[in-house]
Amino acid sequence: MVKDKAERIIESRKRLAQRAPDPTIVLAGSLMSRMIRCNKPGCRYCEKDKGKGHGPIWILSVNAGNRRARQIPVPAHVKQEVSEGVRRYAEIQKWLKQISSLSLDLLEERKKR
Ligand SMILES: [Zn+2]
Repeated sequence: MVKDKAERIIESRKRLAQRAPDPTIVLAGSLMSRMIRCNKPGCRYCEKDKGKGHGPIWILSVNAGNRRARQIPVPAHVKQEVSEGVRRYAEIQKWLKQISSLSLDLLEERKKR
């Protein structure tokens, strides 16, 4: 029997759903780096127009609602873990969008009948 397009979409959607990335470590936010100035007189890292400052230090920016962001300093020993969590979040969002796009295709297909 020849499968119709709707059935094929349902199958690929199911296959995609089974390949869910592990959400255990998920962390919603964005990781940014920044140089800081100590303002100590004579510091060679902070010299005006010459020094690049100290760092980088890492900051996790988290949506706090009302268009506000919480800036959380991330110490070096947890930076790797945080960056993996942020990456996993993006991966899961991408995965959800792929499934959603198939659901949209399915809707269009079913409307034809
Ligand atoms: Zn300095």
